[in-house]
Amino acid sequence: MLKIALVMRATVAEISLKNLTHNIGQIKAHLKPGVKLCIAVKADAYGHGAVPCARTVLASGADFLAVATVDEGMELRNAGIQAPILVLSLCTPSEVADVVRHTLTPLVFDEDYILLFAQAARRAGKKGFPVHLAVDTGMGRIGCFPEEASALARLITEAEQGSLSLGGMCTHFAASDSATAQDADYTKAQFERFTHAIEQVRLAGIAPGICHCANSAASLEKPEYHLDMARSGITAYGYYPDGKPRSYYAARGDSLDLRPVMTLSTQVVSVRRLKKGMSVSYGHTWTAPHDTYIGVLPVGYADGLLRRFAPFLRVAVGGKSYPVRGRICMDQCMIELGPLSATEAAALRWQRAVLFGDSASGALCDAQLLADETGTISYEVTSAITKRVPRVFDAAGIS
Ligand SMILES: *Cc1c(COP(=O)(O)O)cnc(C)c1O
Repeated sequence: MLKIALVMRATVAEISLKNLTHNIGQIKAHLKPGVKLCIAVKADAYGHGAVPCARTVLASGADFLAVATVDEGMELRNAGIQAPILVLSLCTPSEVADVVRHTLTPLVFDEDYILLFAQAARRAGKKGFPVHLAVDTGMGRIGCFPEEASALARLITEAEQGSLSLGGMCTHFAASDSATAQDADYTKAQFERFTHAIEQVRLAGIAPGICHCANSAASLEKPEYHLDMARSGITAYGYYPDGKPRSYYAARGDSLDLRPVMTLSTQVVSVRRLKKGMSVSYGHTWTAPHDTYIGVLPVGYADGLLRRFAPFLRVAVGGKSYPVRGRICMDQCMIELGPLSATEAAALRWQRAVLFGDSASGALCDAQLLADETGTISYEVTSAITKRVPRVFDAAGIS
């Protein structure tokens, strides 16, 4: 167990590094031979714990890591991780020196930004510090336009007497996880603009470095978009891109098997008898239609168990499914255990209760189900689990 705490609260996010390793194996099996793999461990590895997840994916054969912020990159470096780390989001001038000092790999795409890094690299005495040139082919977020790529590639290689080098080129798809023909065409057009930009850089006599554009969805379904490296995130954590079910892949003759890495669990801390007509939680939105028992769970929306999940959670206690009753509070919620004998009720106290995650860990619903029912995506469900919830890791020897 990673977290050294004198007291461990009942509510924990159990992180199966075993499932993470399994998922990396599944992703790698979908890559063409020789294609590198970059795993996104941004946002604390989508809520799963960046350092242990980073170590595990590297041990399972990932080549690169990707973070969003400089801070996140520094956390990995401070933990002794030496693999290349892409910084996917932009930083401010005040963070540039730290990017260089910690050998993080920024995405660059305009003259000012390139010069900031070139100067910082020169001041740090670096030659050929690698940066990746981001190309905006249709995401409308960051990147240069394809026609600017060769001039910017030249600037990268020439600024400040060669303090930088072009380590790679990348673009990001806006809709590669969609199954519609229209979106497939959009992605194809993005890919063509990207390969055109790469070609222009080559024609200018500059080696484009590692070229990458495939996210989770494209990595699994579109080998023609792999280029030199795939960038996967959500699949590593056990969820299918765009919530496509396993059966979608099976229908394509693909036995892809992803396993949720996070299981949110807690303990029943109180079992209370409620008489018919008594109400539960804020707004007394639920009133017992019969004499029943209520279990109190010490987990709430401040842990990331969002209020809107209440109607869809199937909380597992001893393998049985129990509904949430009333509103989820900040720190607690209530499940209905049903009419019980006093002995049965007493036996349920202190039992483990599983909110969502891996069925092999006892969960009866997963982040995908909660996302589908509440109009969001699995990414948001796992990354919303707050830092108050200790992450508990399964594999000994990885810390
Ligand atoms: C987060 C991110 C990824 C990974 O996306 P998934 O959909 O989780 O595979 C890839 N590339 C970029 C630029 C990202 O920001």
